[in-house]
Amino acid sequence: MSDTAPEGDKAGAATSHAAVCPLDCADTCSLAIELQDGRVSRVRGSTANPFTRGRICAKVAQALPSQVHGEGRLLRPLLRDGARGSGRFRPASWDEALDAVYEGFDRVRVRYGSEAIAPLYYGGPMGLLAHGSMDKRFFHRLGASRVDASPLCAGVSDAAWNSVFGDVGGIPFTELGDARLIVVWGNNITNCNLHLTTLIRDARSRGARLVVIDPKRTRIARDADLHLPLLPGTDVVLAYAVAAELERMDAINTAFVATWVTGAEAFLAEARQYPVERAAELCGLAPAQIRQFARLWRDLAPVATAFGVAPERNRNGGAGLRAAYALPALTGNFGPPGAGICQVSGFFPIEEDALARPDLAPDGVRELNVLDIPALVLAPGDATPLRALFIYNHNPVAVHPDAAAMQAALRHEELFVVGSDLTMTDSMALADVILPAATHLEYGDLYCAYGHTYLQRSAPVMAPLGDCLPNTELFRRLARRFGFTEDCFRDSDATLMDQALAADHPALAGRRPSELPTDAAVDMSATPAPSVIRHRPPGTPSGRIELYSETLAAQGDALPRFRPLHNPRRFILVSPASERRVNSTFGGLASHRDDMVCEMHPRDAGDLSLTNGAPVRLYNNQGEVVLPLSITDEVRPGTLFVPKGAWIGDSPTGQTVNALIPGHRADLAGGACYYDCTVDVAPL
Ligand code: SF4
Repeated sequence: MSDTAPEGDKAGAATSHAAVCPLDCADTCSLAIELQDGRVSRVRGSTANPFTRGRICAKVAQALPSQVHGEGRLLRPLLRDGARGSGRFRPASWDEALDAVYEGFDRVRVRYGSEAIAPLYYGGPMGLLAHGSMDKRFFHRLGASRVDASPLCAGVSDAAWNSVFGDVGGIPFTELGDARLIVVWGNNITNCNLHLTTLIRDARSRGARLVVIDPKRTRIARDADLHLPLLPGTDVVLAYAVAAELERMDAINTAFVATWVTGAEAFLAEARQYPVERAAELCGLAPAQIRQFARLWRDLAPVATAFGVAPERNRNGGAGLRAAYALPALTGNFGPPGAGICQVSGFFPIEEDALARPDLAPDGVRELNVLDIPALVLAPGDATPLRALFIYNHNPVAVHPDAAAMQAALRHEELFVVGSDLTMTDSMALADVILPAATHLEYGDLYCAYGHTYLQRSAPVMAPLGDCLPNTELFRRLARRFGFTEDCFRDSDATLMDQALAADHPALAGRRPSELPTDAAVDMSATPAPSVIRHRPPGTPSGRIELYSETLAAQGDALPRFRPLHNPRRFILVSPASERRVNSTFGGLASHRDDMVCEMHPRDAGDLSLTNGAPVRLYNNQGEVVLPLSITDEVRPGTLFVPKGAWIGDSPTGQTVNALIPGHRADLAGGACYYDCTVDVAPL
């Protein structure tokens, strides 16, 4: 099986090639890429992946050709040739650019030590090779600070999960089809888990009931039997209230709890602090809604829950998830098909250490929360300052909270910034050296998923354009320039693929990952993975589901704890996933900024005498953004919605909503508090 790009197509003859969507989206769709005259002429879904079944979102179908061939594509290495941020760069050869990276990093490590250098990455392409192989090896060998990017997304959820269930997985999403009650909690599946819509619709046609918990009446919420538009940050109160109501109705599954759960008594004692009437007031719900939710938990089984990342994005995020995870435990909803929480990481036998080789790093290298990077540039105090950053798979100016701090850090005169990307993002514009990245159509990779259990391999669809390089080759060359002689820096992409997964996993049937077909996906759930109480007990210290955590007691929160909301301004601003972008990917495209509006409830608009379509100022003490107003009763009063992922060029104020988002942290894992942001609004 060859991993070289196909030969150029004959003029006029369109050819179709298998690919995989690499974006930070749960569904990891299989794609059919049509090439004509060497250019991407059409992007469709393919049926190679039985979960995504040929259906893809409009944003990828529409934007991918211009992402690959658009005028903004970076095709040559660039060196800064003017003041930082002036936009002046000059083209350079790869040798010249790699020399510049070497000299810049070397200056920093001689003066401050290697920990003054850090990678700044996130979830651009999600392939195993692009996302954590040769790049990680390089930074480990360099002795750079390690960076934990999970506080930007999923870190809080993972920490909450580990505290309650330990290192066992959840159930595959396909089991939603076996459930009699489906709970979609903080997950706008139309934008983030598109293919669940079909699964849920089919389950409902067989009689399943659907509850959606979301402050906005999203498309899936419109179809729900019960929609709970709770106030962001109050998930923990809702879960406690349901638990208390279940106890009051004598609906706790005491046999299951006695066998599998620890801490239920303490949890329920805390839950009694949130009787329905009080909880309804705190959550902004009607008491009848909470009672109805509790009755559904009492009356229906199995119950399957699909959480999104929304509940984690505030100061009560860890508590909210821990309390919500308790509901299936208290009702015994683990074990049978369709009972549990959808979570599929356990199905993919990723050999992270073999890929990333942390053994190459010197002992004791510090690990940074990615959110601390601006502070370590701007005001490091006694800590080793950060004086060199390498940005890749990431557009931190568009993605991080407190975007002004990130911009200030990247403008710091003592900071040396290297970046690699497809286009001139807001972050690349602040770099000293820019290395042109290949799109996922220009290299092969292996793809797991976080919304289904299919493993997919891709091969290059086309040769890299211009001087672009995939991450693996970029860091191979960089390692050579730095004089790193370890054999692992010579591993080919095929070798990396074979190192990426446990070779003896039965689903691979003896095939090497690098030999998997590109026109079919491998269902990793064909081999059962340990999930909560299936095949093995919970992986907690007690071996039981821990509703009271001795481990977290050391941090002060043995039980999930509600911290009252601190709302110094009139509106809570929520910046959810967009229909037009994936994180910040496809931001900056004029054709993809038409959803940049601020949604407000009619009652609030009336109070402020605001009219639909008029520009309004959203502001707090961190910044100001101007957006057209969209008045809709889909959002709850007191809450505003502005989709995330805009670039500075998308905004007339030179700031995006990320400038308004505070820098404080969630109650677990130091997570970002994207939905814990308050603003005032005024007409322009
Ligand atoms: S962004 Fe998501 S839904 Fe769209 S093509 Fe990619 S994986 Fe599929």
